[in-house]
Amino acid sequence: MDYTIVGNGVAGIEAAFKIRERWGPEQASITVISDETDYFFSRTALMYAYMNKMRRRDLEPHDRQAYERQSIELVRDRVVDIDADDQSITLRDDGRRDFDRLLLAVGAKPRMIQWPGVDETDDGIVHLVSMQDLDECERLTWTTDEAVVVGGGLIGVELVECLRFHGVDVTFLVREPYFWPAGLHREEGEMIQQHIASHGVDVRMGEELAEVIPGSEGRVEAITTDTGEEIPCQMLGIAIGVTPRTDWLDSTTTPPSCGRGIHVDRSFQTDLDNVWAAGDCCEIDFGDETRVETIWYTAERHGRLAGLSMLGDDVTYDPPVFFNSSKFLDIEYTTVGTVADAPDGSKTLFRRMPDEEITQRIIVDEQDQVIGFNMLGSRWDHTILQQWIRERRPLDWVRDRLSNAQFDVEFGRVPLERMNEEIRRL
Ligand SMILES: Cc1cc2nc3c(=O)[nH]c(=O)nc-3n(C[C@H](O)[C@H](O)[C@H](O)COP(=O)(O)OP(=O)(O)OC[C@H]3O[C@@H](n4cnc5c(N)ncnc54)[C@H](O)[C@@H]3O)c2cc1C
Repeated sequence: MDYTIVGNGVAGIEAAFKIRERWGPEQASITVISDETDYFFSRTALMYAYMNKMRRRDLEPHDRQAYERQSIELVRDRVVDIDADDQSITLRDDGRRDFDRLLLAVGAKPRMIQWPGVDETDDGIVHLVSMQDLDECERLTWTTDEAVVVGGGLIGVELVECLRFHGVDVTFLVREPYFWPAGLHREEGEMIQQHIASHGVDVRMGEELAEVIPGSEGRVEAITTDTGEEIPCQMLGIAIGVTPRTDWLDSTTTPPSCGRGIHVDRSFQTDLDNVWAAGDCCEIDFGDETRVETIWYTAERHGRLAGLSMLGDDVTYDPPVFFNSSKFLDIEYTTVGTVADAPDGSKTLFRRMPDEEITQRIIVDEQDQVIGFNMLGSRWDHTILQQWIRERRPLDWVRDRLSNAQFDVEFGRVPLERMNEEIRRL
């Protein structure tokens, strides 16, 4: 049986390992194809390479021999066609290959808007999503004194932090009235905004990019915002989100059904025979809703389950209680469950440490059962918070035991009893 996997990100590699766990090389040949890098790397750590804190090689979670030891063939090429009727794919450089089972784990690509001036600008506009983006950022940084970053989300903050690390003056354009309403409530959003500004960043809330102005050599020279102001910059970072990489599929011989992502059922099968999809690129049908999940932990889980499904196991994906962790420059962030999009009638307990950038938000539903946590400025064990959500614990119960979920062993725990708190309905 020939298992072919397009994409060497976490979803693709987890699927490959899962298949190999079951079948040896005599029963299954496994090929992983990617046009980005020879070896799987941790996309979430790109910023640490940009800030010289990790070597590129250190971004690779597995030693390079791991693939050979497991007889997983790695191919550096781009898949340009899929013919599911013929069970074959076409590679840009190396022609046609047959498959028995195919996994599309092709990830997501940066969103882009064709603002006026973008087409005329040949250089200086960057994203921070792929290894090639990192190359571009590094190439441009040493000739950059001023940069503008557009997009107040997690990747935007990372790009801002990297540029500040290299001594670049940064203007940060955030369309929303406070920082990242998709993940934070106003109090936390405003705290993060002030924190970013305290690192010497010119944070512009409610301001949008209007036009890109190239210089005579074609490199970006300035931008204007929707207020009409012109801001000089030699780099323009666009971080307005990512979108599943489906556009290339339209022109294939047998395109799989796509909406926001590649449509899959809960066993990660597409509408094409013997073709699966997993990770950031897929849109999963849960019957009453469909979901696109573009985070590391879900892609990892999708990959494992898709691998099992390709082996013929009976798989039904149940999304775990949502969890993510990140950092806004120096501020730790853990989120679990439903927070920013909590249903009407939910109640929120908001706690803040006086004079410090430490907050906790707990959300309960109308039945007083906890449904979400947003914890900033200290570290938390998400597995405990997830468990409390699964157990539908009431607010008072959770508040009394909150210290059990604190994780600041190295730095000392936050003295929770010193926090101000208020409860209100959302
Ligand atoms: C800067 C940054 C920071 C992030 N931080 C976090 C974080 O803190 N926490 C978190 O949970 N998530 C984070 N994420 C998201 C997380 O990295 C992704 O959800 C995860 O990497 C998705 O994995 P994947 O395997 O689905 O796809 P990807 O890792 O995108 O891999 C897909 C691969 O397929 C290749 N490919 C695509 N099309 C083709 C083709 N036609 N032929 C050959 N190869 C192809 C691509 O080049 C790519 O290498 C971050 C993402 C970025 C960009």
